[in-house]
Amino acid sequence: MTTSAYIHIPFCKSKCKYCSFISYIEEEKVDSYINALIKEIKSRYNKEKLKTLYIGGGTPSLLKPNKITKLIKEFNYDKDCEITLEVNPEDATLEYFKKLYDIGINRISMGAQTFDDNILKIIGRRHNSKQTIKAVEMAQNVGFNNISLDLIYGLPENYDYKKDLKTITSLNIQHISTYGLKIEENSFFYNNLPQNLPNDDKQADLYLETISYLETKGYTQYEISNFAQKGYESRHNLNYWNNKYYYGFGLAAHGYENEIRYSNYETFEEYLKNPNTHKNIHSVTIQENLKKKYF
Ligand code: SF4
Repeated sequence: MTTSAYIHIPFCKSKCKYCSFISYIEEEKVDSYINALIKEIKSRYNKEKLKTLYIGGGTPSLLKPNKITKLIKEFNYDKDCEITLEVNPEDATLEYFKKLYDIGINRISMGAQTFDDNILKIIGRRHNSKQTIKAVEMAQNVGFNNISLDLIYGLPENYDYKKDLKTITSLNIQHISTYGLKIEENSFFYNNLPQNLPNDDKQADLYLETISYLETKGYTQYEISNFAQKGYESRHNLNYWNNKYYYGFGLAAHGYENEIRYSNYETFEEYLKNPNTHKNIHSVTIQENLKKKYF
């Protein structure tokens, strides 16, 4: 039975310089995209009661709350379903959070990345550290009590990463995801390598520093990149980690159902034409399953 679902929202206002995710700066396509997504969900979702729903991107917070409502109305829910929406700090307003809360979103994930404004500019983010801190406060004021922030370590230039760790743990959030900067082939940085990147050893040191610092602040590492206060481990992440089935809906989304891993078309042209057809399908072999279980 498949009780987790991921929905991909492939729109962004601009492209961050380290980003290799599939996202497009074509907001005018939002309406046709939502219609295609709903077609896909209606044709493949088997009405199970979901335990987790994750709306990620891209930038899902570019969607107005009525569009998000349209999507989440398509599903049945277990009574404690974890429903996460990724929000970019620059999109956050009190009004927006109130609406998200009212329509049933109960977990917010935001990309802080760093609290150093100079580095945020260098990596092409649109927000600044004040906006992140304010966004967290607004979400808390509205009533969200399950908030996650993303932090990147190993960013270019010399900056005070320890300060980032101190700041993020001072915000009284429940969950932190940390990622080492990787220069991926499809990113701007791949052909325009930034100055002062830490080498692999330094990056490994930063990872270890992250683990030990977050542990001292009450965040337990429950998966390679994820840390949570007790009881706030993301059930959606754990579903992936434990190799359980999940639906993947939307352009470029990946899913895993009935021993089949699949991925969807990656361009608007292809996806809008074929929302119900996967681009790639791979039957998972017994050997692959055993490997996942034991290694
Ligand atoms: S990092 Fe996130 S916000 Fe930036 S371009 Fe990529 S998907 Fe969009």
